[in-house]
Amino acid sequence: MLLDIFDPKAPPRAIGIDLGTTNSLVAYVKNECPTVIADCHQTSLLPSAVHYGDRGDVVVGADALLRAAAHPRDTIVSVKRFMGRGADDPETRRLAPYAFVAPKAGDANVVRFGVAGRVVTPVEVSAEILRALKRLAEDELRSLGGAVITVPAYFDDAQRQATRDAGRLAGLEVLRLINEPTAAALAYGLEKKQNGLFAVYDLGGGTFDVTILVLDNGVFQVKSTGGDSALGGDDMDAILAEELFALAHRDARAATPSEVRVVLDVARRVKHGLTTAPEVEIDNPLGSVPATMLFTRARFDELVRPLLARTGTACKRALRDAETKAESLDGVILVGGSTRVPAVRAFVEQLFGKAPLADIDPDQVVALGAAIQANVLSGAGNPDDVLLLDVTPLSLGIEVGGGVVDRVLPRNTTTPAAARAAYTTQEDNQTGFEIHVVQGERELAADCRSLARFTLRGIPPMAAGLARLEVTFRVDADGLLSVHAREERTGIEQAVDVKPSYGLDDDTVEQMLIDAIDHGEADLDARRLAEARVEAHRIGRSTQKSVDDDPSLLFEGERERIAFALAHLEQAATGADPRTIQLRIDDLDTATKSFAERRMNRAIAMAIEGQRLDQVERTVEHAKGIEAAHGSPLPPPAPDDALASFANHPKPEVER
Ligand code: ADP
Ligand code: MG
Repeated sequence: MLLDIFDPKAPPRAIGIDLGTTNSLVAYVKNECPTVIADCHQTSLLPSAVHYGDRGDVVVGADALLRAAAHPRDTIVSVKRFMGRGADDPETRRLAPYAFVAPKAGDANVVRFGVAGRVVTPVEVSAEILRALKRLAEDELRSLGGAVITVPAYFDDAQRQATRDAGRLAGLEVLRLINEPTAAALAYGLEKKQNGLFAVYDLGGGTFDVTILVLDNGVFQVKSTGGDSALGGDDMDAILAEELFALAHRDARAATPSEVRVVLDVARRVKHGLTTAPEVEIDNPLGSVPATMLFTRARFDELVRPLLARTGTACKRALRDAETKAESLDGVILVGGSTRVPAVRAFVEQLFGKAPLADIDPDQVVALGAAIQANVLSGAGNPDDVLLLDVTPLSLGIEVGGGVVDRVLPRNTTTPAAARAAYTTQEDNQTGFEIHVVQGERELAADCRSLARFTLRGIPPMAAGLARLEVTFRVDADGLLSVHAREERTGIEQAVDVKPSYGLDDDTVEQMLIDAIDHGEADLDARRLAEARVEAHRIGRSTQKSVDDDPSLLFEGERERIAFALAHLEQAATGADPRTIQLRIDDLDTATKSFAERRMNRAIAMAIEGQRLDQVERTVEHAKGIEAAHGSPLPPPAPDDALASFANHPKPEVER
């Protein structure tokens, strides 16, 4: 007997997992070549079915499917449809014949199945599938690094979180979740093209998904998704089964459940046969006449035409949503076992007007792409291949003076990403900054979603503008945001973690975007007004201060002219027209111009008189401060508690 020798020093390998509705599989990069892992029967597809036995035993895969007939309630199939759904979600009840268990008070609001005398959640069921894949991978690789798991592009935060939880429960280190269509595009190496527009046509066992992806400098972004959650290979099986009953002169509705199961099974085998052969002859599984039956591909193509037409409608809608046309696509990718059917390929080619990419096995393409990504993330791949795959769905920013939002990370920034913005105080002797983190596209913080609020305290009293607050936003690969604030002079710092997408489903995100567009004009006006008021207030205060500090430099009547301009500005600032405020600011600027010049000249004269250097510097700085009071950005009304809103934000630099 030969024993397999493996290198105990071999580094752990990262794996990619396609956790499918019907089938799941696991892959890794072997000698730079992505490869699926097969079991001892040379099968790599693991049916996504979990059977719970009476004695606490759990069976996963093909063996679980065999038990489904006798124990339908204890055998969970298509668990993916239940992931991240609430117990009260009406969709879930329609889906299957399971014994749903209502949550008890205090329980999390998730679906619960009663199976063989116990209660399990979709996360636990999925974890069983993942555990089986993990064992398969361990048999091949011995030592596992992390895993990348794929999810449909339309999965919301709750569904993604549930998938991640399932991975963790299975003992996997989940490096990242990536979208299935993105994984397929990676398997084809499309990111090497840097730019392009692609459609991914995914027809699986029970679901059809179409995704329009745009590749922008090597980064994929989902432009639109569409599909049908009840359309797939199962429907083809059902259509062929009906045909079979008809050929046997039997009424399908009068058949026993076990007959239906047998016929569905045979129908699937016929379907698979017709993928490679123009006709398939079988023995009548119902034992009646005729003894044999002939199925032709031509007839099958005719039968599935209505199904294909439905996928066509969804594709056209997805193209429309992405504001593009089939002619603009650089490629179409086939994903899912059902796209092996020749009629499907012909249909896709006709629909999009180009031959689809189909060289990679459509069953495996998603898992292979996930493996490539896992390899890169684990550091084993070419560092140039590091891929940025996700984008922030909404802008993230900070509330600054006047309640205006300063966007630190704009919407659609690819993640992981970090950006830093600097702010200063607007009031003398401010001892704290209040930091309000918001998400959304609206101009005013009050119209955005508030994510976090914290206060940086203990800043020693300083003149306005001297404190330097650096705020860093960091979004990790899973979309989790952390905000870090630090006052540079004192080193005082504080950080919070926020989960920006928590509880935001696609519809909410979309609504927030629509609101931003609807209110765009009004928002901009509100922003201009808020900013003008902040500016008016700051200039007013600093002018008053210089008049009070240097009354001897004022000429005859000048104090009155300045006071007059100040009063006008103050009045304008209570109004609603930013242009009027700006005009009054200009007026004040004119009224103070020569006074400011005199202060500057005096500072310079004092310097020439041979004062100590640092003294001169301070004086000059002071004089410049007055000059700068005209026309430079900011400060708002003094907050009562001496906490600042912010001023002076240079454009944030985005680092990747
Ligand atoms: P999912 O993504 O939903 O888990 P898959 O991509 O694994 O599903 O697709 C499963 C479907 O593909 C099944 O309906 C199966 O019958 C079908 N399928 C697999 N191989 C073939 C084939 N050679 N010809 C036709 N259909 C196939
Ligand atoms: Mg799939």
